[in-house]
Amino acid sequence: MTQLNAQDALDRLKEGNQRFAEDKATHPNQDLAQLKAVATTQKPFAVVIGCSDSRVIPEILFDQGLGDLFVIRVAGNTVGNVCIGSVEYAVEHLGVRLVMVLGHQNCGVVKTAASGDDVHHHLGSLVATTTEAVRRAEGKPGDLIDNAVKENVKLLMQKLDISSPVLHKASVESGLKIVGGYYNLDSGLVEMIDY
Ligand SMILES: [Zn+2]
Repeated sequence: MTQLNAQDALDRLKEGNQRFAEDKATHPNQDLAQLKAVATTQKPFAVVIGCSDSRVIPEILFDQGLGDLFVIRVAGNTVGNVCIGSVEYAVEHLGVRLVMVLGHQNCGVVKTAASGDDVHHHLGSLVATTTEAVRRAEGKPGDLIDNAVKENVKLLMQKLDISSPVLHKASVESGLKIVGGYYNLDSGLVEMIDY
């Protein structure tokens, strides 16, 4: 199996998402034959960092299957050290050339950060990043939560590049691309976030 380059990987995600949003999903690579095919080795074509939200399931919304996506899910799609290490593994050891940070409409963690309510215990570490995103979104035209979700994605893309020499080097030398997406729960479509 040869690895897809960043553009081909992004095209494959977009095509799968289009199928899903048009209710024409083909559910590829989801049978036992595929499980057998990837049992001893995997070559996922993209990393997706998404929210734990029960409605935001990358394999479903991108219409992919077993062995296709290397997925990291944390509430608020927060990028901490463990998450960055997971991405580095996928890039260094599995040869993945596309990383998507995926935010979504009505994200509860972003809403919690925007509410200004006190958060306790470990939840505070999730909300710390999103609070900065809310601050950046304030005063911009449009919906505060939507804008904060997008700002959050941009902050996390930046964090991946700045915090990881491995990922930065792969971007410069090996064609790694880190992209941002916003999943619209009304349409099922993922919009690209310019950065
Ligand atoms: Zn969320």
